[in-house]
Amino acid sequence: MGKDRELPVPEYVIEVPHSPEECSIAAIEEATGNARLRTYRGCGSGTHTTWIIAELRAEEEAWDLVPQLLSDTARVVAVERAVPTRLRQQKEDS
Ligand SMILES: [Zn+2]
Repeated sequence: MGKDRELPVPEYVIEVPHSPEECSIAAIEEATGNARLRTYRGCGSGTHTTWIIAELRAEEEAWDLVPQLLSDTARVVAVERAVPTRLRQQKEDS
């Protein structure tokens, strides 16, 4: 393991589709208060889905954030940040 290379923190996208009646259940940001989460939702434009981008150690921690009532339709995807090749090379050169 290189000394100067930081291990990237695993990130997960949690996708929680829900009905208009379930908006309050899907308001995950209220339940967690966790600063390492970013929550987005499409409710305002009629797409009732909540997306959470979270830095977590394991996929199970992502599932822990999903309300039980909505877990049948939720999805958790481990993602990596896509950096434009141009910027990546600059970083490697410096
Ligand atoms: Zn909603």
